[in-house]
Amino acid sequence: MITANELKKYHNLINGDQTPASTGDMLDNIDPSTGKVWAKIPRSTIEDVETVVASARKAFPSWAELPSIERAEYMRRIGDLLAEHGEELSALETRGNGWVIRETSYGLIPALKQIWYDAAGAASEGSEGETIQMGKSSFGCTLREPLGVVLGITPWNAPLFTFTIKAAYALVAGNTVIIKPSEHAAASSLRYGELLAEILPPGVLSVISGLGSEIGDALVSHPEINKVSLTGSGTTAKAIAQTIAGNPKPLIFELGGKSPNIVFADADLDKAADGITGSIFTGNAGQLCVGGSRILIQRSIFAEMITRIKGKMLNPEITRLGDPMNPESTMGPIANLAQYEKVCSYIDLGVEEGAEIVFGGRHGGEVFFSDQPQLSEGYWVEPTLLKVNSNSLRICQEEIFGPVATVMPFDTVEEAVAIANDTSFGLGAGVWTNDLSRAHQMIRRIAAGNIWVNTYGRVGPGLPFGGFKESGYGTDSILEYTHKKACVIELG
Ligand code: NAD
Repeated sequence: MITANELKKYHNLINGDQTPASTGDMLDNIDPSTGKVWAKIPRSTIEDVETVVASARKAFPSWAELPSIERAEYMRRIGDLLAEHGEELSALETRGNGWVIRETSYGLIPALKQIWYDAAGAASEGSEGETIQMGKSSFGCTLREPLGVVLGITPWNAPLFTFTIKAAYALVAGNTVIIKPSEHAAASSLRYGELLAEILPPGVLSVISGLGSEIGDALVSHPEINKVSLTGSGTTAKAIAQTIAGNPKPLIFELGGKSPNIVFADADLDKAADGITGSIFTGNAGQLCVGGSRILIQRSIFAEMITRIKGKMLNPEITRLGDPMNPESTMGPIANLAQYEKVCSYIDLGVEEGAEIVFGGRHGGEVFFSDQPQLSEGYWVEPTLLKVNSNSLRICQEEIFGPVATVMPFDTVEEAVAIANDTSFGLGAGVWTNDLSRAHQMIRRIAAGNIWVNTYGRVGPGLPFGGFKESGYGTDSILEYTHKKACVIELG
């Protein structure tokens, strides 16, 4: 048993220094696989907000003045640093939110490295402009300039990824950056900040942890913060929009989803079954913004696809709920108690709404780990598939954010499009078909920011990632972290 003295304590990164909260207060971070406290993070205050913003503001002019090629060199060095510290960071991410180590180490860390190198390679985008002929003796031109201090607010389901996607592009564009990680899983971000401070000048990157309800308003409304990029829930996005109402501060909102994953009868069904299970029954227990949580299957193959999906999910060689630090485990726990209770309540709601449990539905550590007492108080939910007859049920309309999907049949393209778009969200969609013209129709007609055909969830350098409707607006990219200035020069 870990005693209070053995708990690892993490600190804010302010002005290049490891800094506790001004009051010395700390918050517990819970290991979701055991339900036990494993780390302590600063419970920062409004006073700490003032300190961190002042240091980021002070660092801005000299960082912004560097040629982009020099900032790119910093990004490359950070990418290299991940090779050295990847193992440590992936273990912290896994411990903090339960995302299985086989995915955080082999998938996440290489993705982070790629983002830093990509930001380095694209650095000049942030300083490119155009010239426009405006008559014989005058011309116009555009300049790109950094915004100032950027605030990145990140969620608990993917702390290191969301940290990186915000920091890398905003920094290389010449901004200084403050990251505010989720209070539920901040340790990996605080350590990441400490490592990055070995490379970056003081104040260029800061990390401050604390409760959104205590320091969120002070951060987002701070007059010295020039842009806010949130990855989180719609509720938080609305609160932020209200807090800064009347103040024209640009925002990026990367929010939730209720993404359809649609299989037509002509698809490669085995590939589709892999794509469907891999899009929602993931290593971080379906806590994925683009999770394919509404599975739609053409009626003629409905029974066959259910059999294929079941075959994969009930095969212990493929699905192994277990200690996320064990490389054999394929799915970890729900990341925190509040989210666990939410997911469980949606499974109960589904049954009340008349959904039929195709597989899964069980939850609670004691159900799965009676022989492993250390896991029995963790937040475990097994992959759950609920068969429904109507897309209007609450379990089809509201984001559950767990390893829970609904499945329903459709007959025609028209019907598939209507069901896919019958949602307030618009983040992702999967389409499985070998008919090229049908694929094109679906791409055009589905209202979502990201459509994947015969694959799911892939993102990559050069491709924007963002949502439509209540899934948000804007996308973390170099250009979105710059102003575009116009200028006209008269020569005559
Ligand atoms: P959340 O909205 O509860 O919290 C996100 C962050 O906002 C945390 O750091 C929190 O402390 C902070 N926060 C809370 N209240 C605040 C306030 N008033 N002012 C400023 N900051 C405040 O979200 P979560 O539960 O941590 O994450 C899950 C959500 O994130 C899901 O809806 C998921 O779909 C979404 N998400 C979206 C993407 C994407 O790219 N679209 C990626 C990952 C997660």
